Amino acid sequence: MTFVPDDFDASKWESIEPYVNDLLERELSCSNCLEELIADSSNLAEHISETGALLYINMTCDTEDEGKKNAFLSFVENIRPKLSKFSDELNRRIVNHKSIGDMPPRYDLMIRGIKSDIEIFREENIPLGVEQTKLVTKAQGITGAMTVDFDGKERTFPEMRGFLESNDRIQRESAWKSMVKRWMENSDELSDIFDELITIRHKIALNSGFKSYTNYMFRAMHRFDYTVEDCLTFHKSIEEVCMPIVKKINSERCTSFDLKILSPWDVNEKSGSGPDIAGKNPLRPFDNVDEMVTKLSELFHNMSNDLGTKFDKLVEMDTLDLETRKGKAPGGYQYYLEKSRIPFIFMNAAGLQGDLETMIHESGHAFHSLYCGHLDLIDERDYPIEFAEVASMSMELLTQPNWNIFYEKQEDANRAKISHLEGVVFLLPWIATIDAFQHWIYANPGHTREERKIQWISLRERFGSEMNWEGHEDFRELSWQQQGHLFGVPFYYVEYGIAQLGALQLWQTHRKNPEKALKDYSNAMELGNTKTLPDLFAAAELKLGFDEKHLQSLIGEVEVAMSEIKN
Ligand SMILES: [Zn+2]
Repeated sequence: MTFVPDDFDASKWESIEPYVNDLLERELSCSNCLEELIADSSNLAEHISETGALLYINMTCDTEDEGKKNAFLSFVENIRPKLSKFSDELNRRIVNHKSIGDMPPRYDLMIRGIKSDIEIFREENIPLGVEQTKLVTKAQGITGAMTVDFDGKERTFPEMRGFLESNDRIQRESAWKSMVKRWMENSDELSDIFDELITIRHKIALNSGFKSYTNYMFRAMHRFDYTVEDCLTFHKSIEEVCMPIVKKINSERCTSFDLKILSPWDVNEKSGSGPDIAGKNPLRPFDNVDEMVTKLSELFHNMSNDLGTKFDKLVEMDTLDLETRKGKAPGGYQYYLEKSRIPFIFMNAAGLQGDLETMIHESGHAFHSLYCGHLDLIDERDYPIEFAEVASMSMELLTQPNWNIFYEKQEDANRAKISHLEGVVFLLPWIATIDAFQHWIYANPGHTREERKIQWISLRERFGSEMNWEGHEDFRELSWQQQGHLFGVPFYYVEYGIAQLGALQLWQTHRKNPEKALKDYSNAMELGNTKTLPDLFAAAELKLGFDEKHLQSLIGEVEVAMSEIKN
């Protein structure tokens, strides 16, 4: 018998409350009472997590339905604040119990996390958190509603992406300019929201007894195994190792376009993508979602029976919503349904190479969830984000030798591989920019907008592509606004860079010995959240390090791989 019945409705506080009271009030005098308490609270948490997940999934699959949106918002506004107060009380109950010292080692990491959560929890921060969520939702509303009239039609920003890769430079330029013009209409409002968010966040940190929001967030995000200094070292390594290659790739682009200097509509600063330098049409790896799914099944079976079977299981369980349609939220994600232990994948596939990469990425997250689904407690399956992205980003690289399944011509498969590898090199400096920007912002919470602009531009000079911004300086100074993480999930970004370090090492192994790499992958993924981040890296035989030499050895191999494909 589970603590909570299977048909339990976790969307109402009235139904959750009796279980919460039981957990907070039951007598804990027997020898394994504490373990039972943890198991029962995990069971309750699985139900609540799954309810939240389904409400979120329903909303993103159908954004035009007000009822679905309100159901999700009501969960966020009514259930979550009550839950955070309850969690704190339960946390205190657990660590203050007299037999906490006798708990088996299995609980060590969990207890470390609980102690840290207790240390930062303050009841007066709960309303500030709600205030923060409202501001973030407001910012998302503003950017999500942005459309432009272009080429005879009203178009959303994701729809405009296609024009930015057009081979017609005049069309690219006018697409880019129309998007920038639209963005600038709301840029002041977005800056106002961001100012408010900084004030709230700094206050949350002070309330919790921290000098800065940075230190507070390192605790809140359970960053126990790397420091602010490690992040700064990582930025420096990225600058030294990646920037010369970024410059080289950009100069090749310049030469083939016959330009002296690139303009912002010639290359995407973040991904390095843009129109094909040989003037070819965008790649089309598949025509429809069924074709993508069938071919991916073949691809994963080619790699290993284990991955193939896991992928087929995702298809059988029918928890995929993959094709793009009106009313669907943009982007892609994997959401694990904790009670059913089923991964759900959401994306907007329109037949592009980027869509294929997204699906492979999200499949990597789903594999991770399936590998660790055998672990009992929700906390044991709640793998750290830095490692979650190893599961997904490494899959993008490890599948490359099989991308030919999607292309009849070898040269098209090669184009896809080169552009993906270039993307790896471009993304790291962007990660460094966003991370360094956040470190500066929260170390200087009283800064003016003018100072913020200067800081952003200096980081873009350090980590960005050389471009001609003449006439668009005002947009450049505010282009950080386009990175939604800065609003919605502060400090969450360096994780992608840390994970890429792991993903690239797995890929290095895979180039020599595919079987070993996949074994290393599953060995580590099976551990879920039961080991520290360095131990998870070690379980996959990966090194966790931020120094230049280490990064050089990884990016050096990316360069080798690119030249192998080109020759
Ligand atoms: Zn991911």
